Parts: sequence; structure tokens; C-alpha cells
Amino acid sequence: MHPGGDSSPSLSGPAVGPVPYQYQPIEPLAVAYASPDIPTSPVPWPIRGPVFLGPPPPAPPKKKRRGWVWLALGLMAGTAIMSPAWVDRLGAHPASMRAVQKPTPTPPPTPAVVTRPGDRTADRARELHRLLNLVAADQARALLAKDEAAFLGPAAVPAARSALQRRYRNLVALHVSRLELAADWPVVDAATGRWKSGLRYQFCFVATACTPDSVTEPAVWEDTEAGPRLVSLALPKPSADDWFGWVQPWEVSDLQALVGTRTVVATTSALKGRLPGLLAEAEKAAVVADSFATGTKPDVYRIYLAGSKEWRSWHGGSVASWAAGVTRPIGNTHNDVVVNSSSAPSGYLDDLLRHEMTHAATIHGQHWWQDNWWLLEGIAELAEHPDALTATQGSAETRRYIRNSWKRTLPGEDPPAKASLSTVAAQYGIAYLAVKRLDSRFGREKLLDFYDRVTEQGKDKGDASSAVFGLTWVEVEGDLIKTIVAFR
Ligand SMILES: [Zn+2]
Repeated sequence: MHPGGDSSPSLSGPAVGPVPYQYQPIEPLAVAYASPDIPTSPVPWPIRGPVFLGPPPPAPPKKKRRGWVWLALGLMAGTAIMSPAWVDRLGAHPASMRAVQKPTPTPPPTPAVVTRPGDRTADRARELHRLLNLVAADQARALLAKDEAAFLGPAAVPAARSALQRRYRNLVALHVSRLELAADWPVVDAATGRWKSGLRYQFCFVATACTPDSVTEPAVWEDTEAGPRLVSLALPKPSADDWFGWVQPWEVSDLQALVGTRTVVATTSALKGRLPGLLAEAEKAAVVADSFATGTKPDVYRIYLAGSKEWRSWHGGSVASWAAGVTRPIGNTHNDVVVNSSSAPSGYLDDLLRHEMTHAATIHGQHWWQDNWWLLEGIAELAEHPDALTATQGSAETRRYIRNSWKRTLPGEDPPAKASLSTVAAQYGIAYLAVKRLDSRFGREKLLDFYDRVTEQGKDKGDASSAVFGLTWVEVEGDLIKTIVAFR
């Protein structure tokens, strides 16, 4: 099952998927390939793909993964709203993985053999790759210049034109501030003679000083005398081991967007009437989320309001149907917050946004989620309701759970998929009480320092506790348990 959709804590073994994409500026022709390895005479397909020059990136560290983070808010029928959300799916992510930069590629040599459209040779692939990157770079420039006609120019058929048009209009609406497009190495389809080449987007919204996120769309091109012509674009298909690169809302839905000071909010035409209210609440929540930010604050918070269809398709879908919100890391510096419109009444929006946007401010790409569920959720709960656990936040359910079912351990994993809403609420209540106690006892600064060392740096809680609190984790945890017991 898709990692975002499996709320049971099934853990895979060490992941050996690709290293998360590292941003590098892309210039036309910038993707190097090892031409000496490719024969200059016609060869049967498939030829080998591009080979990056320089040392290979390091292997990813072992991590127990369940995909992206997702944090959801559950609502209980009736007037009482049980808050909030669970994080599942986070994984280890040493900082070193983010520090690695690929070497700057060197431009490829001029093709030694003249090729023509219709050729299916390795030399033609090389030349077509060059041409595709020229087209892609022109398209990126056209979009940033708001030249729609030029962006749509490479479309060969109406379907491709429509696909490009959606992306163009959405990215402009989202105030795309940086966009770089590049083509993967093309591979010919023996049956049609068309070429498959992933189209990679690197994008930022609103801010120009940012680390772009990346998605790659499978694309099919015709090789014509007039240059490469786009036949089709499909949605990204990352592998189960990929943390990032899942379907962006702007790839699959026609969006309306509003931009504020700290946030950009977007939704479908059907829900656009909710955008002004969403923006106002998001701007208020950003002040709170910013105050919890660990590391670098988000350049801008991205909040998408989903209808039921979008809830099932954005970022690959697979969020529990009762959830009201989810936060998904989409790169090392950005998280998308998605609000489920059918589960998030306006009166609850402020709470939900404080919760989810605080996740967005305190999660930086891949991270250490295992055994830390209570800490990740507790921080978000503290931002949502800093003063106390009240009836609307499930205080009664939490008390009952502590009295009757609690095993006197801090919940390290997300609640089971089939857990009752009252149990889910109680787990969040316990997470809140624990983090609230750390906040009261040691202060916000030390709380956030501890949080960051454990969830972001992957430090042992004992080491983090000694370094930050000056106390053993055994002592600190014992105090948390005692505090939670006293709440009943
Ligand atoms: Zn949460």
C-alpha cells in the first residue's frame, strides 16, 4: 500500500531507494552523460541512460520508512471536536544527506554523428536529449515571463496542450518564483517511434530565495524536423521508497490561489469562496507556527484546500477518510498542508491550521519519526491549544483512557488505522500532556532544542535530555508519566 495510506505501523527493512533529490541549478545541456560509453553507430535499444560524472552520491542511511509524514485531524460527530491528528510515517534522515551536492556537470560534447528525426540510435538519443533540454529551458523562461503561448508551443496534440495549460495557469496563480525544467534521458518506444523522457520541474512559490522542490512527470515526445513535440504528460510515479516527488495539486487540479504575507492558499474553483477565509486564518496561524519553527522558518507556508476528489488524489491520496488535515514533506525545506474541506468546518480551521502549520515549521524533509510520535504530535498540539487540554480537545476521552487503558508509556507510533476516534483523541491528549509538561518545566527554547535533536538530528533521547535538560531521560520521562497519570 502506498506509504501515506497505511496507518498501521508496518515497517519495512532498510530502504535502499535513491538518495532524495538534491537541488542543483539546471542549465540547458547541463546534464552530463558519458559519451565514450555510447557507440556512435546505430545500436538496438535500450541504450544506457545518462551517467553523472564524478563520485556517486552516498548510499542512503538505513531508515524505517512509511513514506511521508502525514498528520491528520480527526473530527468526532457532534459538537465535541477531538482534535487532531496523527503523524505517521516519518523516518530517519541524517543531516548529511542534505549536505551532499552533486558535482557540477560538464556540458556534453557536440554530437560526432549527424542524426535526423526518425533515427532510433544512441546518437539520436543524445541529440534529442540536448534538444529536449533546450525546449524545456525555453518553457521555463516563458512561464516565468508569463508567456502562455510560448509555454504551450511544444504541444503536439490538444491533450498535451491542455496538460501544459493547467500547469502554466496553476503555477502562475501560485506565484511561482523559480522554475527550472529539464528532460531525462530519452528512450524510444519501439512500437510508435516516440520518445519517453521524464520532464523534471524544480519550483518555488512566492519566494525567490528558496530551495526548490522537484517532481518528474513521465512525458512522451515526437521527434520532428521542427524539434521535439510533446505528445503527453502524465503524473509523477515515485517509488514507494521515495519521500518526495509525489503528485502536486497543481499538476492534477485547476487551482485558484491567494497569496498573503507568510502563506499561499489554493483550492479548486468549486471551493474558491473559502479562499479569503482560509488565507486570513492561515496568516494568523503562521504567526504561531513561526514561533515554534526549528531550523530555518519556511519561506512561505503552502496550504491547499481539498474537496473529496482532491483529498484522494493530491500527493498520491491515501489519507484516512475521517482525517481533516495532513502535512506532507515535499522536499527538505517545504511541507504542503492539505485541509480536507468536508471535515474541516470554518469554526475549526484556526485550530487545524495552527496544528498542521506547526508541523510544517518543525519538520524539515525526512526525519526520525519512529518512537517519537508523541513528541511530533505534542508540539503541534501545544501550538494548537497552548493553555490546556479542554473538552473540545478530548480531555474526557484522555482521562478515561488514562484511567482504563493506558500502559504508562509515551505513544511512539501513530494510532492503529482502526482505532476508535476516542482512542485517537486520547493518544493526542497524552502527547499534548507530555509536551506541555516539558514546555512548562524547561521552557520553550529547551523544548524545541530537545525536539529538534531527537526528530531532526536522530539523537538518542538520553543524550538529548542530558545535553538540553541536564537530566537523564529516565528521570524526565518518569516525570512525564507521573504528570499524565495525575491528569486523570
Ligand atoms: Zn499532527
